[in-house]
This record gives sequence, structure tokens and C-alpha cells, in this order.
Amino acid sequence: MSGHVMSGHVALVGAGPGDPDLLTVRAARLLGEADVVVHDALVGTGVLDLVADGAELIDVGKRPGRPTPQELINSLLVHLAGQGRRVVRLKGGDPFVFGRGGEEALALGDAGVSYEVVPGTTSAFTGAAAAGIPVTHRGVSAAVTVVTGHRRDGEQPVDWRALARVGGTIVVLMGVANRGRIAAELIAGGLAGDTPFAAVRSATTEHQDEMRGRLDELRDADVASPAVLVIGAVAGLDLARWVPTGCAVRARHGQRMLAP
Ligand code: SAH
Repeated sequence: MSGHVMSGHVALVGAGPGDPDLLTVRAARLLGEADVVVHDALVGTGVLDLVADGAELIDVGKRPGRPTPQELINSLLVHLAGQGRRVVRLKGGDPFVFGRGGEEALALGDAGVSYEVVPGTTSAFTGAAAAGIPVTHRGVSAAVTVVTGHRRDGEQPVDWRALARVGGTIVVLMGVANRGRIAAELIAGGLAGDTPFAAVRSATTEHQDEMRGRLDELRDADVASPAVLVIGAVAGLDLARWVPTGCAVRARHGQRMLAP
């Protein structure tokens, strides 16, 4: 066998925002077939219950004080695939929406590892929907911008004032810590202080919680991570909530869903 040909395979899989019922059928199937699952901190425990008994679970969650550098994750994936194993790299939401899935795909490609990408439902849209907010709505919002609220030193800053002029809905991921500055910049860019916002925390999990208010109240709102911030007129809508399904419990008791 040539040095570049590896028999293993990596699936970069989106786990959705939490509730295992929001996995794709393919994601559930791959979880049941994996030899090893490399997952993030934000992946719900109910989702991990679908991993087969005997498969290895590796938590590479980036938590404050205990970060796993991206390069280490990349080489771990290459290493595991090199052992000929079926690897699932499981990420919260969608792997290509602020999930660094693109970087991992590039690293796998460079190393000659066979890989696939399985999209997931992103918290940007599902988080809003779970709180009864449609991110677009006829006559109310004809656009939605998904943006990060967190920039590292040296990274291109977000032009919030320009975003304020785009119109439509703004969904901010990783924005809780900077919410005061984000609100101030959006208002400086022209958004009205009474523009509605909703902060949806731990969407689709049993801990789902939401807070609503006006943009000029966002700074002082009691919001904790992980949360999506939905800013715009649609955040004044209040349709049906997502009801968590408890599938995790069924899976734990051995009634594995979607067994291959
Ligand atoms: N790839 C993920 C996003 C990763 S960035 C996706 O597509 O959803 C991490 C951020 O996503 C968090 O800071 C938070 O803003 C958001 N997030 C992820 N899961 C969430 C959930 N269940 N509820 C609310 N926000 C969530």
C-alpha cells in the first residue's frame, strides 16, 4: 500500500443544536456504525447515546482553560483514520457554520484521508425556530445575516454598523459576552433602540430558555452561553416552541433508533 492510501474514513457530521430528534438520518446511522467518535463540548448527551457500545468516545471540546488546539484535532483525525477506523467527527449544529469543519476537511484532504461532510441543522436557524421565531417572514424580514460575535486579536473585525444597514434579521452566534458592544454598534449604525431581540439559550435541549427585549436593553439582559441572539422585527413574533422529545432516554434503554 502506498504511504498516502489509508483505509479509514472520516465523516464530519453535524449533530444539530441538541435534541437527537434533529439529527439527520445519515448522522444517526453513521453514529451507530462508527469505531470512534471525536466530539465537541456542545454536542448533546442524547446524541452521544446513539454511539454503539464499544466505540471509543473522544471529547475535544474547547472549554475555557482547557482548549484543544485545532492542529491537534486535525492530526488526531488523520491518525485515527490511518488506523483504518471509521471515524465520526461530531460537531454541534452544522459543521460548516462556525464549526471549523472546512479546516478539518482541508487537513484530511491534504493527508489523503477519505472523508465526507454531513450537514446538520444549525443553531442559527433552529435556535430561533425553537423559540417560535421565523428568521425570515413575508412582509417583515427578507434577509438573514448569520454572524459571529467573537473575534480574536488580529482577525478582521465585524462591521456591525454596515450590518445594521443591510436590513432583515441578524443572528449572532458566540455573541453573549460582547452583547453590549454589539447592541451599541448596531444602534450607532442606525437600528432603532426598540428593535426586538431574543436570546435563545441551549435551544432544543431540556434547558432551553429564552429572553426577549429591546436592543437597547440587550447589554444588561441576563443571558448566558450558549445562546443565539436574534435581532430584528421577527424577534417580536412568538410562534410554537420546540418540545424536546426525550429520545435520549429511549436510546439509553437500548431501543436504538434507526439501527443499520
Ligand atoms: N456549528 C454550530 C455553531 C458553533 S459556534 C452551529 O451550526 O450551530 C458555537 C455557538 O453556536 C454558541 O456560542 C452559540 O451561539 C451557538 N449555539 C450552538 N448550539 C446552541 C444551542 N443549542 N442553543 C443556542 N445556541 C447554540
